Amino acid sequence: MLALDDVTVRYGDRAAVDAIRLDVAEHEIVCVLGPSGSGKSTLLRAVAGLQPVAAGRVLLGGRDLAGVPAHRRGVGLMFQDQQLFPHRDVGGNVAFGLRMHGTSRAAARERVASLLTLVGLPGAERRAVGALSGGEQQRVALARALAPSPQLLMLDEPLGQLDRSLRERLVVELRQLFGRLGTTVLAVTHDQGEAFALADRVVVMREGRVAQSGTPVEVWERPADEFVARFLGFANVVPATVHGSVADTPWGKVGVAAAAASGERSLLVRPAGVRVGPAGSGLGCEVVGRTFRGEDVVLLLRPERGPELEAAVPLRGAPEVGERVGAGFEASEVVVLGG
Ligand code: ADP
Repeated sequence: MLALDDVTVRYGDRAAVDAIRLDVAEHEIVCVLGPSGSGKSTLLRAVAGLQPVAAGRVLLGGRDLAGVPAHRRGVGLMFQDQQLFPHRDVGGNVAFGLRMHGTSRAAARERVASLLTLVGLPGAERRAVGALSGGEQQRVALARALAPSPQLLMLDEPLGQLDRSLRERLVVELRQLFGRLGTTVLAVTHDQGEAFALADRVVVMREGRVAQSGTPVEVWERPADEFVARFLGFANVVPATVHGSVADTPWGKVGVAAAAASGERSLLVRPAGVRVGPAGSGLGCEVVGRTFRGEDVVLLLRPERGPELEAAVPLRGAPEVGERVGAGFEASEVVVLGG
């Protein structure tokens, strides 16, 4: 449906998007994820026709979009900086794009009613947008973007302004809604939870390039490199020398799952893969931090050698700060990273 063919976007002589190749299949939900400044918004703006492309091609449904103005691209936009029109009511906001496309008044009225029902605001046509909650405004913005039945819907930090609980609920609803409508979606966010909950496929960006592309499970289970692993919040990443099923690390020898490639590599130990036992067993450590997370506790351990280690342990029986423990490693939770 959408193909970016070595697309580069520059600000001055700096490439904010650097020869990116990216495909989005029909009905697919792709989330571009990356830290602030990695080029996510620039990428979306280039596809939308709001930012000129310096090199490469953007193809939508096989059609080269070069020279096609933004409003003729057949893409729906829900961007953070595009507020609702404050002087129009909800119905007027949703109908806006339809009227622009020359839809008759009666047909527009019908379409607006069905879209508002779809986003969970049936009968809200006459309400003032100023009187809506943040979540409701977000739904109206979504209905407005969906109104002209765009081939591709693009979302920029769609739920960024909302509080966490509302965001978690809306993201599930969005996924169900897009599934039902068969909408093709390209979204960008810096929030990994949002990306993983929404996407069929996640594309992690770093400095204008693609660092990794895969299903949420693939990216979570096998981060491509140290950058992706750290961006996902993993702290236990160290240089290691891997030979077969054993790695030499600053913490000592660590067993790794079989198929790992040998050589000088980066090694990730998931916090759940650090077994915490009594002092005297395994790697001697002092507990220097303890964070309660609801289901479990994340301990920060200072080992007798090597950098600090994060360990996720059950709440019941979790050691206290200052206690001495022994740490071991679960090979199935150790990942040899590329890059
Ligand atoms: P993200 O959406 O991932 O936060 P952006 O696409 O907004 O990243 O920005 C990518 C890079 O381009 C950043 O270094 C940013 O400072 C720069 N940039 C963004 N917009 C402009 C602009 N209008 N002029 C100059 N530089 C810009």
